[in-house]
Order: sequence, then C-alpha cells, then structure tokens
Amino acid sequence: MSIRQNLDAIRKTLPGDVSLVAVSKTKGKQQILEAYEAGQRDFGENKIQEMQEKYEALPKDIRWHMIGHVQRNKVKYMAPYVALIHGVDSQKLLREIDKKARQCKRVIPCLLQVHIAREETKFGFDETELQDLIASEVIRNLSHIRIEGLMGMATFTEDTQVIRTEFRYLKTLFDQLQGQLPDLKVLSMGMSGDYRIAIEEGSTMVRIGSSIFGARTQE
Ligand SMILES: *Cc1c(COP(=O)(O)O)cnc(C)c1O
Repeated sequence: MSIRQNLDAIRKTLPGDVSLVAVSKTKGKQQILEAYEAGQRDFGENKIQEMQEKYEALPKDIRWHMIGHVQRNKVKYMAPYVALIHGVDSQKLLREIDKKARQCKRVIPCLLQVHIAREETKFGFDETELQDLIASEVIRNLSHIRIEGLMGMATFTEDTQVIRTEFRYLKTLFDQLQGQLPDLKVLSMGMSGDYRIAIEEGSTMVRIGSSIFGARTQE
C-alpha cells in the first residue's frame, strides 16, 4: 500500500471532528511530500533538530507538531513556526515557551501532557500536578501561550481494556478542566495501535505514524 492509500484508508475511519497528525519522525522528505501531495498538512516530529531540517526544506503551509519530550534549551529553535506543542509537562517548560513566543511576537498553542500509562518512563503531569498548575496564577500570567488541550499516551500493551480505561480517564480530566480553561478543545490521544479505541473514548486528534509511513527501524 502506498502512503496515499494508507492515508485514505485511515481518513475514511475518522469521524469529521477528529484531526489527523501524520507522525513523520525518522521518515524522509520524499515520504512526507507524498503525504503532502495526498492533502496531509499536519505532521508530527519528536526531535527538534529533525523537525527544523524538514521545516526548512518542505512547503511552508505544513503545520509542524512537536509530539516528543521538549528540552527547555531547544524551545527557541521551534518557537518561530511550531503549530502545536503536545508534550508540555512542566511549569518551567511553559514559562520558557511563553518567553520565546513573546520574542517571536506570537502565541504558541500547547497541550498539557498527562501521565496516564503504567510505564514510569512516560512523561507528563499527574492529576494533582495538573490541578495545581491550573489553580495557580502561572497559566493566567503567561500571555504568549494558549493551552488548547491535553495529550496522553496509553500503556504499551495488548490488553485493550487497560488502554480504554486510561483513555477514558484522560477524557474525564479533559471534561473537568473545560470549565477552568477557556481554550480547551483538543484531546490528543491515539496512535497506530490504539487510535480506534481512543476515538471511541473521545479523542479529537490522533497521532499516527507507522500505519501511514510503514514501520520505523529506529525511534
Ligand atoms: C511515535 C509517536 C506516535 C506515532 O506512533 P505510531 O505507533 O507509529 O503511530 C504518536 N505519538 C507519539 C508521542 C510518538 O512519539
């Protein structure tokens, strides 16, 4: 199957209000262009330098999503153009994004990453940290970020009930926060292996790599 065929097949299964981020990490410019020519405009990368090189080489109407863990000292590189940062997992990082966005005279849309998986290695706020952040003045004082939603990754497991429970929990948090954060609209959850479950549980944005571009040989 070609990239175009994969994209078409996935798009057919997505409800109209669910957007698709094509995760192009480790993939070459030619493959991204193939998806671009099939109409795809949102692409996800997890390394800033790799995203930067692709941003410079590829059409400027591509919306670049940073889906990986973000080091604070690298925010400056993506601040001029990044469309959405999915993996915001600390107040310090939020402050840094705000600062660099201000220097670029723009407002950067961000998602707060929530730790929903059983694996310790996955990043994100837990529920208490999230509540603390939202109750604090921090968010209201940062005028160059906009918190547009939440992002989460489920446990890597065959047990679909575990995955479903984790996504359902994230959706519950999302609904609870809706009253407190005025711009909340994006619930980024679901990858190649679990996006169908994520959609059933209320995802509004799926991040799909291998089902579009084929398996990766490296992370
Ligand atoms: C790599 C990655 C994806 C896509 O994974 P696939 O299984 O290839 O669809 C989604 N989200 C994040 C955060 C990733 O790092």
